[in-house]
Amino acid sequence: MLVAAREFLDGEGFTELVAPVIGPVTDPGARGAKQVDVDYYGHRYKLMTSAILYKQAALAAFDRIFYIAPNVRLEPLETASTNRHLAEFHQIDVEMAGASREAIMQLAERLVGHVVRQVVAQLPGELASLGRDTSMFAELLSQPFGQRSHADAVADLRGQGHDQSPDAEIDWAGEAMLSRKASRPFFVTDYPKGSRGFYDRESRERPGFLRNFDLIAPEGYGELSSGSEREHDYATIVARIRETGENPAKYGWYLQMVREGIPDSAGFGIGLERFTRYVAGLDSVWQASAYPKVPGVALP
Ligand code: AMP
Ligand code: MG
Repeated sequence: MLVAAREFLDGEGFTELVAPVIGPVTDPGARGAKQVDVDYYGHRYKLMTSAILYKQAALAAFDRIFYIAPNVRLEPLETASTNRHLAEFHQIDVEMAGASREAIMQLAERLVGHVVRQVVAQLPGELASLGRDTSMFAELLSQPFGQRSHADAVADLRGQGHDQSPDAEIDWAGEAMLSRKASRPFFVTDYPKGSRGFYDRESRERPGFLRNFDLIAPEGYGELSSGSEREHDYATIVARIRETGENPAKYGWYLQMVREGIPDSAGFGIGLERFTRYVAGLDSVWQASAYPKVPGVALP
């Protein structure tokens, strides 16, 4: 899957960079998960929960970049049994200067399509030995992915008696319900401000809603990817950081860079283990890792 992903992104003119592992700040948008502190010569550094801030920095040198980035998030203990959470995982993490949300969603769709097509074509024996019925990919490979708004997904869930908050990300149970009903991947767009990180750009036409998306796999596998157009205006970013209750002073190097000017961009991250779980039809995401870190379980 990585060979296919790299082949696709290389063909689209993306440069692969190597992601940082530690830094003075990391993505604060990892809801519910704890960050890991590292003593860095007396400074309190963080292991990367996601490389989002560094993806924006990388655009100073290249218009189209990607990482295969390691992320560490101490997810809450109850996630040990969701089959979807690891404390250490990887993202195929893509960022493109000058891109709209629509353009980056299209790229994510073509990337997923390319990887699935390559796996189905090149590894039929492996898929058969895993018991994965490749007819499940027929729609993915022949039709555009679906698309609905967050508000529409919330209304659907509430109509089914699921108490989904209209102001938050779709919860795991709700996401599984929507995913089980689908027979091809689909995007959920326009999450409410407050449900996501400060770097997801707010819509000018529809204040309170973000120019972002999730990509949800069918068959109950749930979220594969989150992405967005990015905010790049200094004053707006500072205000958004404050709104989330964070101290802008923590983001010194990032804000300095933003003040000097960063490109307009859009990007996404696909969870590699979740993507592998879906393609291989695995019961749990830990089966997609050679060295799985299941939340709360102390193993090598
Ligand atoms: P997020 O920034 O939380 O949207 O994470 C980006 C992507 O990484 C998600 O769409 C998932 O595919 C994946 N991901 C996030 N958290 C985890 C986790 N704890 N374990 C495995 N994959 C994850
Ligand atoms: Mg997400």
